[in-house]
Amino acid sequence: MRLNLIHLYPDEMNLYGDYGNILSIVKRCDWRGIDVKVIKVKKGDPLDLSDADILFMGGGQDRSQQIITDDLVSKGPQIKEAVEGGLCVLTICGAYQLFGHYFRTREGEELPGISVFDAYTVGSDDRMIGNVLVDCADTLRKSGETRLTPADREHLELIGFENHGGKTYLGESVNPLGKVVYGFGNDGTKAWEGCRYKNAFGTYLHGSLLPKNPWFTDYLIVLALKHRYRKDIQLDALDDAIEYAAFNTAKKRTLTAKTTHL
Ligand code: GLN
Repeated sequence: MRLNLIHLYPDEMNLYGDYGNILSIVKRCDWRGIDVKVIKVKKGDPLDLSDADILFMGGGQDRSQQIITDDLVSKGPQIKEAVEGGLCVLTICGAYQLFGHYFRTREGEELPGISVFDAYTVGSDDRMIGNVLVDCADTLRKSGETRLTPADREHLELIGFENHGGKTYLGESVNPLGKVVYGFGNDGTKAWEGCRYKNAFGTYLHGSLLPKNPWFTDYLIVLALKHRYRKDIQLDALDDAIEYAAFNTAKKRTLTAKTTHL
């Protein structure tokens, strides 16, 4: 089997090692004999999603977002159409913000988004920085796809790191990715983190996110395979002892840290 992965703005939007998310997807596919072709799409490059299965875009400082936003808007209609067709998308932080309606910076400049997500972001004087633990069990079960994820609740948590000033507010036609167990989350109120619309995900979790959260990497792979082969494909189990050792170390460190406060 094979998958095509589009990496948007690899130079401008790649904060805190977000490229590690692509490495995780490629490696966990390689271990199962699934070939992943990574296509980098830079600012000004043409975008062709007609044969794409996964689209990834990493985080970026306000300045980087300003640099690419017009180019992203020009690609927006094609991305929206592909998401409606089930394309699997992972956007991190600054990318997540620009997949909403707009990101208004702390200085008041409104960067247009592409409205994949019914959400908007407003910059603030607060800096939401630190480890984040998110419980996705209820939100994923609500999507009715528990057959595609591990049965045990323990492995439906995500651990990561956030660093954003933007506060994201979700609208009616998008669901949160999960409940905040520890950290600030979308808008600093420690309630909800990230969002999901069809197979498109946005999250503030850097880390990079996927290496320590193998169940979510596999979930994205299964969604991408379903997009290409139009059926649910069960992945061979891997020995994730090291990945979950890293997850549990980060989780323990997070939960024993002093509480977060703005
Ligand atoms: N520039 C955005 C903010 O500060 C996103 C930052 C990021 O991608 N880590 O909210």
